Amino acid sequence: MLSGKGVAHPAPIRPPWTDERRIAESCTRCDACVHVCPEGVLTHGQGGFPIFDPALGSGACTFCGVCAAACDEGVFDLTRTPPWTIAPTIETTACLAHAGIHCSSCKDVCDENAVGMVLRIGGPPVPEILSEKCTGCGACVGVCPGGAIKLCAEEPMEGAA
Ligand code: SF4
Ligand code: SF4
Ligand code: SF4
Repeated sequence: MLSGKGVAHPAPIRPPWTDERRIAESCTRCDACVHVCPEGVLTHGQGGFPIFDPALGSGACTFCGVCAAACDEGVFDLTRTPPWTIAPTIETTACLAHAGIHCSSCKDVCDENAVGMVLRIGGPPVPEILSEKCTGCGACVGVCPGGAIKLCAEEPMEGAA
């Protein structure tokens, strides 16, 4: 892995249509993909290699493919479906709805209808990520008033082992 030195550190989220192996083998750290992203959600992480960060720019990837088109090194594989495997997780202790406050910001922002609101007795509905619909775009992360939603690579990236 290009990240971390054995310390507990979340795996970096690479741009869509890439993985650790492709980055390690072919990326020249030219930053072209970072600079062209119209959503401003790419930056360079440890070692200068590109990463996706939903705290930046618009906060969400639209899968426009502009980053892939800008790369001259063949790092991106546009045949990859889905483009990445990113799973949002909701930390219930930080979620307002779980604390009894009505909130559906994550559901409201999700264009994929990938957030369900689960009815419960004794409190407002609580959000649940519907993994079969979620694209991992990141839009729900920045709108959460409790900072309860995190993205992580759901599975080890292809070739990362
Ligand atoms: S697909 Fe488009 S929005 Fe997503 S990271 Fe690449 S350039 Fe940015
Ligand atoms: S455009 Fe390609 S070579 Fe340049 S930083 Fe992005 S992935 Fe690496
Ligand atoms: S990351 Fe998933 S749940 Fe969150 S807004 Fe995007 S598609 Fe919806």
